[in-house]
Amino acid sequence: MDKKILLDVQNLKVEYALKGKKKVSAVSDVSLNVYENEILALVGESGCGKSTLGKAMIRLVPPVSGQLYFKGVRIDDLDTKAFMPYRRQMQMIFQDPYACLDPRMSVRDIVAEPLDTYKICESKEATTQRVTELLEAVGLKEDHLYRYAHQFSGGQRQRVGIARAIALNPAFIVCDEPVSALDVSVQNQILNLMKEIKEQYGLTYLFISHDLSVVRFIADRVCVMFLGKLCEIGDTELIYNDPQHPYTKFLLDAIPKADPTQRRASRLLLPGELPSPVDPPAGCRFHTRCPYATAECKNTEPKMKQVKGRMVACHMFD
Ligand code: SF4
Repeated sequence: MDKKILLDVQNLKVEYALKGKKKVSAVSDVSLNVYENEILALVGESGCGKSTLGKAMIRLVPPVSGQLYFKGVRIDDLDTKAFMPYRRQMQMIFQDPYACLDPRMSVRDIVAEPLDTYKICESKEATTQRVTELLEAVGLKEDHLYRYAHQFSGGQRQRVGIARAIALNPAFIVCDEPVSALDVSVQNQILNLMKEIKEQYGLTYLFISHDLSVVRFIADRVCVMFLGKLCEIGDTELIYNDPQHPYTKFLLDAIPKADPTQRRASRLLLPGELPSPVDPPAGCRFHTRCPYATAECKNTEPKMKQVKGRMVACHMFD
């Protein structure tokens, strides 16, 4: 059966202005599809632009160019009012729920806020009832309604963040490092909860993470990003078992191995520092660190092409 495209991202470009005339090229000409009901992971080192891309995909940061189509409708050029019905279908879960939960608001009010904004329930009692249902869906109890964020553990706070994100029955959630701030045992609980909620509510996730073990556990497909550009995108097991792009190979090789002798034997070390997105290298942005770089890599940007069942941007496959 053909997969249905939920979000079609075309040539998206995001820049941040610095002092003077300098700009940070955070996301550069990125095109990708997100399919309905999948978990697509976005991976790469910190500073590679994955959070910015995730936010730009749901219009939380403005692109300088490119198009976004949600369920076939172009949404990047809609004004705020016309975008409202789409805004409620796209939500976000953050890394640090504590930072985005207002410490002066009770959990009831935090989860009720989007319901109130969109006037979903007819009365205050109906809103409280709906919030109670949402808390129960994420493994919290009615007793938690009138507590404040500081009275919860990290895992419980992330449960509140998830309850708030699903309050409006969205179709698409951008999850930005949702378990990175949690202990490993709590991480597993939250990842399992996110999987359950996804099935129950028919959701699609963009799962942003630098933790490749977590990504292998949760994602259907993986998209690897380096310095604002996509390197490789394809099914998770295909990429983990047989990575093609040199940067993907490096990232997977850097996952800590249980056996230290194997770790030393397989370690692929990259030369140099991560280049600056203020002045990114010409040609392939990875060429200053790539052990296979040629003259062509320094001058010509590689295009995405089909390689062994996934898409890869690398001149080795021209
Ligand atoms: Fe390395 Fe060249 Fe491929 Fe870039 S295009 S990853 S520099 S081989």
